[in-house]
Amino acid sequence: MRFHIEAREDAYDAIVIGSGVGGLVSAAMLARLGRKVLVVERHDRPGGYLHSFRRDGCLFDSAVHLVGGCGETERGPGIVQRLLRSLDIADQCTFERVDPFYSAVFPGFRLDAQSGIEGFTEAHVEKFPAEKAGFEALIETCSRIRAETELASQFEAGGFRSISEAAPTLFRHRRATLEEVSRSFLEDPRARAAFGALWPYLGLPPSRVSFLYFATMLMSYVEDGAYYCKGSFQNLAHALVTGLKRDGGELLLRSEVRRIRVENGAVAGVVLENGQRIDAPLVISGADALQTFEELIGYQHLDARFVRSLGKMRLSLSAFVVYGSTGMDLPAAGATHEMFLYDTWDHDDDYAALHRGEISRIGFTVPTLADASLAPAGRHAFQITVPIPFDFVSSWKNEKQRLTDHLIGRADHAFPGLQDQLGAVLGGTPRTLERYTRNTHGAMYGWELAPDQIGPRRLGGTSPVAGLLLAGHWTQPGAGVYGALTSGVDAARRIAGAESDEALWRQLDAA
Ligand SMILES: Cc1cc2nc3c(=O)[nH]c(=O)nc-3n(C[C@H](O)[C@H](O)[C@H](O)COP(=O)(O)OP(=O)(O)OC[C@H]3O[C@@H](n4cnc5c(N)ncnc54)[C@H](O)[C@@H]3O)c2cc1C
Repeated sequence: MRFHIEAREDAYDAIVIGSGVGGLVSAAMLARLGRKVLVVERHDRPGGYLHSFRRDGCLFDSAVHLVGGCGETERGPGIVQRLLRSLDIADQCTFERVDPFYSAVFPGFRLDAQSGIEGFTEAHVEKFPAEKAGFEALIETCSRIRAETELASQFEAGGFRSISEAAPTLFRHRRATLEEVSRSFLEDPRARAAFGALWPYLGLPPSRVSFLYFATMLMSYVEDGAYYCKGSFQNLAHALVTGLKRDGGELLLRSEVRRIRVENGAVAGVVLENGQRIDAPLVISGADALQTFEELIGYQHLDARFVRSLGKMRLSLSAFVVYGSTGMDLPAAGATHEMFLYDTWDHDDDYAALHRGEISRIGFTVPTLADASLAPAGRHAFQITVPIPFDFVSSWKNEKQRLTDHLIGRADHAFPGLQDQLGAVLGGTPRTLERYTRNTHGAMYGWELAPDQIGPRRLGGTSPVAGLLLAGHWTQPGAGVYGALTSGVDAARRIAGAESDEALWRQLDAA
C-alpha cells in the first residue's frame, strides 16, 4: 500500500523542486522574506548530495567532504556563515576548520596544502623552490580571478563587454584551462601536477577543467578556509529546513513533482506524483536540468534552439564511493582529512585510464578527524571516492563488490593494516547516486566544468519559460556546495527584486 502525502495548501507564492542545497537556500530565504513557499522532495530526507546515513554505528556523508565559506574571513563572514546568520540559524551548525585542507600524494612525494595564501604558497615553494616566483604569481592570479568573479556575478549573463573592463583577468582567462594558465607560470611538469592535485574535486583534469572555476574553488578554500560540518553536512540541510519552517515554509518529503504546469507560456504551478495540482506563479527547479526541461516542462513549451543547445551540453563524471570504518589509528599512520593518492604524475593518463575502466588514484577522506562523534570510540569512519564515468563498467551487479574490494586494497596499500581492523563496508555506484538524487547518470557536478560550460555558457538562473527559475549545480556559477548555494541566493535575489546580493542581505537582515 502506498500513501499519498499532500501539500497543506493548493496555492503558494513559490514552489521549489528538490531540497538540494540550491533549492533549499532559495526556499529558506524567500520564506524569511515573507513568501509562502513549498519545497517538494522525493527522498525521505532533505539535502540531495548533502544527505547522510548511518551504518555499522557510523554516520556517513553520502557525498560532501569539505565546504568553503563557513567561517569568518578577513572580509567578514564567508557566504555560508553570512546566510546562516541572516536566516537566524547559525546556532544550528558547528563548522570545524580543516587544515591542511588536503594532502596530495604522488610516487615518492607528499604535499600538505595549508590554507591561507602564505601557507598554501609556502607548501608548494618548499617542494619546488625553483618555481617560487611562478607559484607566487599563479596564486596571485587565482586570487584576482576570485575577486573579479564576485564583481562579475553582478552582471547578467552575456554582459561580457562591460566585464572585460571591470574584470580583466577573468575576461582574459575565460576560455582557458588550468593547464594552459599554469604552464605560463610553472616550468616543471611536476610542479604543475602538484598544483592541480585538487582536480578530482571538479571531475576534469587540468588540461580540460576551466581555469576560472578551478581558481575560484581553490581560493574559496585557501582564502576562506575549508570546513567540515559537525554531525555531517546533513546538519546544514536540517538547519535550512529549520529556518524554512520557522518562517512559515513547508517541506514535503517522499513526494515527487511529476510535471510543471505551463499555461500561456508561463508557469502556473506543478502536479505531484500523487496527482495533487498546486498553483504557483513561480517555480524554482533545483532538480536535474535535463529532467526539468525534458520531463517536467516538456520540449513542446521550448524553442528548438534552446532544446538543441541543451542536447549539446556534456555531463560531469559520476563517482564510486566506498564507505567504511576501521579500528586502525589513521592519524598515527599519517592520514589527514582529505587525501588524493596518485599512482602517476600525469593527470591526463589518470583521466584516460578512467575511460578504460582502470583506476590510478583514490581520494581518501577521514571525517572522524574533524568530528570523532561520527564513529564509535576508537574507530575512524572513512570514504574512498573515485570520480568515474557512468559507464565505467557494463553492469554493477558483480562489479560493485569487485571494485569495493579493489579500492579497500588500494587504501590498505597506503595505510597497511587498515583491512585487518575493518568494520562493515558499503559501496555506492553511479546508479546509487542517480537513484538518491535523480542527477542524470549520477552526475557529481551537473554539467562538466569545462571552459565552454561555465559563465554565460552554463544555464542561467532564469529559463525560457516565464516564472521558471533554476538553482543548483546545473546552473551558474556551477558545482559544489558553494556554487549551488550561490545559485540559490541568486534565485531568491531575482524573486525579491533586489538589485544586488548586498541589497538582498539587507532585506533579509531587516526581515
Ligand atoms: C561523491 C561526491 C562528493 C562531493 N564532494 C563535495 C565536496 O566535498 N564539497 C563540495 O562543495 N561539493 C561536493 N560535491 C558536489 C556537491 O555535493 C553538489 O554539487 C551539490 O550538493 C549539488 O546541489 P544541488 O542544489 O544541485 O542539488 P542536488 O544535491 O543535486 O539535489 C537535488 C534534489 O532534488 C531532488 N529531486 C530531483 N528531482 C525531483 C522531483 N522531480 N521532485 C522532487 N524532488 C526532486 C532530489 O531527490 C535531490 O534531493 C560532491 C558530489 C559527489 C557526488
